[in-house]
Amino acid sequence: IRGISMVDPNTLKRLLDRERQAFRERNPRSAAAYAEAKGRLFGGVPMTWMNKTAAGFPLYLAGARGARVSDVDGHEYVDLCLGDTGAMAGHSPQATVDAVAERFGVLGGATVMMPTEDAAWVGGELGRRFGVPYWSFSLTATDANRWAIRLARAVTGRPKILVNSYCYHGSVDEVLLVVGPDGEQVSRDGNVGAPVDPTVTSRVVEFNDLDGLERELAYGDVAAVLMEPALTNIGIVLPEPGYLAGVRELTRRYGSLLINDETHTFSAGPGGCTAAWGLTPDIVTIGKAVGGGIPSGGYGLSAEVAARLEGMSGLDLIDMGGVGGTLAGNALSVAAMRATLEHVLTAAAFDRMITLAGRFTEGVQQVIDEHGLPWSVTQLGARAEYRFTSPAPRDGGESNAAADPDLDDYLHVYLANRGVLLTPFHNMALMCPATTEADVDRHQEVFATAVAELVA
Ligand code: PMP
Repeated sequence: IRGISMVDPNTLKRLLDRERQAFRERNPRSAAAYAEAKGRLFGGVPMTWMNKTAAGFPLYLAGARGARVSDVDGHEYVDLCLGDTGAMAGHSPQATVDAVAERFGVLGGATVMMPTEDAAWVGGELGRRFGVPYWSFSLTATDANRWAIRLARAVTGRPKILVNSYCYHGSVDEVLLVVGPDGEQVSRDGNVGAPVDPTVTSRVVEFNDLDGLERELAYGDVAAVLMEPALTNIGIVLPEPGYLAGVRELTRRYGSLLINDETHTFSAGPGGCTAAWGLTPDIVTIGKAVGGGIPSGGYGLSAEVAARLEGMSGLDLIDMGGVGGTLAGNALSVAAMRATLEHVLTAAAFDRMITLAGRFTEGVQQVIDEHGLPWSVTQLGARAEYRFTSPAPRDGGESNAAADPDLDDYLHVYLANRGVLLTPFHNMALMCPATTEADVDRHQEVFATAVAELVA
């Protein structure tokens, strides 16, 4: 029996080898495409993270629609990965496809350096959902965070950004640090070409740790706390009662802005955790799902932050001052956001998605209970994730300590070999408007047999 997951390592190794072998046999065309790309793409993949594969090579996409993905070997999958949230609206949702075709094909024009009327509609709708009225667009959540951080520094005149340990907010220089084993603040392992040690630009505390937060804010040099209302990139870690209210109170008391990154926690409802839990951040950032699969993102500013920025002189927000991008807010991206928000990720869709995630969570919990495993499953709206420790971790450090890469790989390959995709990097399942009860039940059935074989 190994670690806290209570799994026999020999059994796990034998089953993982068997499943990887089956994966290779099932997917000859993906294997060949990967071999072919090796000499032409750095790392053999379009983006280096695509080498995060449980079985040695990635599946190659043929097509995707709704909650279904098919690969080049002709297999169809129930997709619970949904592009790690980028496709929370479902793959190629019809309303978004139509709006994109109209904008790009019929009317014409994607990147023209002219606004479209869709943009104000999207700003108004995001304002209504997330409670912050003034929006600006990006093409990724990473850029939304980078630009929000710059604005927060400008407004407060303070240098540092505070984040939670084992957060992820994109490839943003300021966020790549963790609380180390002795409580010290350190760069994340493997931080590639960091411009400076992140402890120079940032502070980091564990999630759910208000004492730690107060200690760090008391230095008086924190421009903004950048956080997810629930951690989602180290398993799901939910806030304890009073934690988020405490964060808001402390940030106000010490003069730091609060930025909620809702890129993943958008799963909590039409206005993310911000609306679902009545939060009042100064800035909200978002990306991924908001454009229904077309690169999109943005940041929303409170009236107060917007007014303070507008009252400042010497900020170059027009040209080369460090905020913005040529293609940000382009007509195609904005048309996609409008269609996705207006017709796809609606309140009614969230109701269904959240009910399905509840069904998923109950099913997984049943399997855990049946075998008496010390594992946990946590739901956040339309998303749920299992973790190999119980009770569910209360911060990023605890959750990181419960990681078991071989067990992750085993479940991922086992499920993929039987037509179910989970998110690489996570044991995460996300529901989209097209997901069905049968899809959830398919996962349940396969997960149950994967676990039964493991503990047999
Ligand atoms: N914020 C959060 C909370 C995320 O999970 C991610 C990506 N996983 C990002 C920002 C960055 O998104 P992107 O890589 O699309 O820029």
